[in-house]
Amino acid sequence: MSDFEGLRALVTGGASGIGRAAAELLAERGARVAVLDLDPSPADKPLLAHRADVTDDASVREAVAAAVAGLGGLDVLVNNAGIGAQGTVEDNPDDEWHRVYDVNVLGMVRTTRACLPHLRASAQAAIVNTCSIAATAGLPQRALYSATKGAVYSLTLAMAADHVREGIRVNCVNPGTVDTPWVGRLLDAAPDPAAERAALEARQPTGRLVSAAEVAGAIAYLASPLSGATTGTALAVDGGMQGL
Ligand code: NAD
Repeated sequence: MSDFEGLRALVTGGASGIGRAAAELLAERGARVAVLDLDPSPADKPLLAHRADVTDDASVREAVAAAVAGLGGLDVLVNNAGIGAQGTVEDNPDDEWHRVYDVNVLGMVRTTRACLPHLRASAQAAIVNTCSIAATAGLPQRALYSATKGAVYSLTLAMAADHVREGIRVNCVNPGTVDTPWVGRLLDAAPDPAAERAALEARQPTGRLVSAAEVAGAIAYLASPLSGATTGTALAVDGGMQGL
């Protein structure tokens, strides 16, 4: 029997990019998977899709309740929904800081709060947060985004400490630049998309962008009993960007 067989997982932001790849990989390996997203329609069967906005507490509670009912319980929460932001501290007004923080940080808090009662009932509960190397790498032009991911990193450690005695493991993945629709949109908006892509690739020692499937592999590992003794860690999936 696979380490994923019978696991019941909820993936936020699971209709695109990293979240979608994670949901599909978990399902392929035998987990039952529900996706929560602003627009869950692109999510493939056999995933259960639920519409919710992680900035809206009521919609999160409603979608989590529906997902848990559909799955018959919950073992794994993948807190992945997130949005980007560019610029230095001079470039974004306060309301933009609040908007991005509301999605990237409070979105995880709301979803986790709604899921914890269900995770406590699981014998192999795990939370995996999608963080970023931006949390610790000091990337230029990413002040707001990096601050939100720094908060996600700290939140991961704090949640791991708070819930370890309840048998709930909490870890995060720290991807480098991942080839997802989001990065596609970023490149399309650049004055010279090819030059921008080359610059992003050159930033990674492997000389290429990380694939969504590679991040999904790390998420699946941290979600499964394969990582049963691991909590309060960040797993880099960054082509060696921070380690080399
Ligand atoms: P993506 O845009 O392809 O997918 C993000 C998904 O989140 C979308 O389906 C979107 O609808 C959903 N979402 C956004 N706001 C939401 C909200 N308020 N409520 C519910 N769902 C919402 O992006 P991606 O590249 O797959 O990014 C996923 C995560 O990975 C994000 O947390 C991001 O910060 C992180 N990340 C991405 C990269 C990268 O290079 N792509 C690198 C490091 C970390």
